[in-house]
Amino acid sequence: MKVLILGGTGEARELAAVLHADPHHTVVSSLAGRVRDPKLPVGEVRVGGFGGPERMAEWMTGHGVDAVVDATHPFAERISASAASAAARAGVPLVLLRRPGWTERPGDRWHRVPDLAAAAALLPSLGERVFLTTGRQGLAAFAESDLWFLIRCVDPPEPPLPARAQVLLDRGPYTLSGESALLREHRIDVLVTKDSGGPLTAAKLDAARGLGLPTVVVDRPSPPEVPVVATVVAAVEWLSSRTRSR
Ligand code: NAP
Repeated sequence: MKVLILGGTGEARELAAVLHADPHHTVVSSLAGRVRDPKLPVGEVRVGGFGGPERMAEWMTGHGVDAVVDATHPFAERISASAASAAARAGVPLVLLRRPGWTERPGDRWHRVPDLAAAAALLPSLGERVFLTTGRQGLAAFAESDLWFLIRCVDPPEPPLPARAQVLLDRGPYTLSGESALLREHRIDVLVTKDSGGPLTAAKLDAARGLGLPTVVVDRPSPPEVPVVATVVAAVEWLSSRTRSR
């Protein structure tokens, strides 16, 4: 089977590696092309938007795609909606590979909010110095804030940004000792994160808990109505079941 993986996540790279080693499949991974120096999956890679669901459906048909795994980030809402629509249009089966969100543990002081605007509105009641780890998109929601921000992202963010901000360019995985040291060094009062899930960036949650800091957790957008699996293993099994039924 020819499998299109919509990527940009660790799970997408892991799945590409598994399928690349399997003679039953050929695989092409698709990246948005937003990150300057992306971690590339093994195997064939295409980069850049498709130009909307109609164009993506044409791409699937034109490239003989037999199945699609949407392994994009849980907050990459547009591409997932686009992929669901394109796959239906092209008559290609699609599964969403979505890792589970994080769950609150004893000692956590979480405040769940629906979006970045709600996070920005809540922050003044929680502290003065903010560790903002929601990525470089959507930072305009914090631009009017008087608080101080440590903004961590992979590539430099574009304005508008908060007036009092320091940008830290970095990418995971992160460690508990590293995250705890960062929180202490910058005298952080409150952490803001998306509910991205997964182990690679979870250390900040442990560090905040350890220091007794509140954490604002932005809820995930609703996924499209398509079959969902939570792990790479389950995605491979889903693909195998498609191979068997062909
Ligand atoms: P988005 O808002 O859902 O997508 C915007 C547009 O970018 C899509 O309509 C599509 O363009 C293009 N696109 C996105 N992902 C693509 C892919 N894998 N292959 C080809 N085109 C893609 O997405 P986003 O939030 O900007 O995220 C972009 C990429 O970064 C995703 O691959 C995602 O997995 C990764 N990422 C996102 C986040 C996050 O928090 N949002 C965090 C980590 C990684 P067309 O309409 O032209 O096809």
